[in-house]
Amino acid sequence: MKLLTIIGARPQFIKASVVSKAIAEQVDLSEIIIHTGQHFDANMSDIFFDQLGIPRPNYLLDIHGGSHGEMTGRMLSEIERVMIKEKPDRVLVYGDTNSTLAGALAAAKLHIPVAHIEAGLRSFNMRMPEEINRILTDQVSDLLFCPTQAAIDNLAREGFSDKPVQVLNVGDVMQDSALFFAQRATAPQGFDLSDGFILTTLHRAENTDDLARLEAIVGALNTIHATVAHVVLPLHPRTKAAIAKAGLILNVHVIEPVGYLEMIWLLQRCALVLTDSGGVQKEAFFFGKACVTMRDQTEWVELVDVGANKLVGADQANIVATVGRLYGQKVEDQHQLYGGGQAAERIAKYLSSK
Ligand code: UDP
Repeated sequence: MKLLTIIGARPQFIKASVVSKAIAEQVDLSEIIIHTGQHFDANMSDIFFDQLGIPRPNYLLDIHGGSHGEMTGRMLSEIERVMIKEKPDRVLVYGDTNSTLAGALAAAKLHIPVAHIEAGLRSFNMRMPEEINRILTDQVSDLLFCPTQAAIDNLAREGFSDKPVQVLNVGDVMQDSALFFAQRATAPQGFDLSDGFILTTLHRAENTDDLARLEAIVGALNTIHATVAHVVLPLHPRTKAAIAKAGLILNVHVIEPVGYLEMIWLLQRCALVLTDSGGVQKEAFFFGKACVTMRDQTEWVELVDVGANKLVGADQANIVATVGRLYGQKVEDQHQLYGGGQAAERIAKYLSSK
């Protein structure tokens, strides 16, 4: 079976690293990869291919920037062109980015079956571009690989149980990557803090594109850095641009975006995670750290249920108070919430049995 995988953004490289490896182990599966170019800086793209052993993309589309419609539209037409040429038996898409939606939609219109990895997640906030992407991608997929029971429940509520599609709880491929690469963690170059820092990431459009939220978050980070502990922030290029445009001053330990092996090193040593990322919320849990999430909703509701994750929105006082309260708190994974690290193997075996 010839698979065509579509990736384009940082979290997709990390997810694909373990799935592509598992696919290569199935003799009856072959894989072609399209990289849409959505993330293109060396430290947002190349470094992951170098570090994680992801096969080089067969097609590099170099599509990035512009509005959502423009980016998705260009991807749709370029991806369709490759699909017509390659005639894959199945298309594989990950997560919730514009690359995910463009790949799924192009395939569905050509009647090529679509498998969605990380299906069924919902934030129930239709103002998030990711929510639109995931709902539409699920609608045109016939194989829905869910990471959690909550995702299965969401799809059941949306009537997927009555559709001629397969919905499977395979676990979370990000747990596979965290476990697989944990032994290979390396310190970011020139990083001179050892323990006792707060690892922060910030890049969701709802925070970076809303001045009031961005101001409140930057204010909170500066206060925490001055009063609680060092805030280490590998700064996403979009956030860097938004902060500069708004004329805000960040007084924290800013570093360039790091590779995944460096990110794991930071996760292993930090005293707390403060983030608005999807993936990083779970990685905090995988590495036994409490997480404070600067969003109003999360797709990873089970972490909130077990008390490992606190949602604080963009409320400056709440962010500062919650970070102060949870700083240094350990979290134990006794719950097997994410499948235990065999998701990629389950996915590849299932694809090979089709
Ligand atoms: N990540 C990384 N380097 C960084 C920041 C994040 O390798 O400087 C990793 C992080 O560990 C996680 C993934 O990128 O595996 C999450 O991606 P991101 O936060 O960009 O996207 P989201 O998960 O929110 O969609």
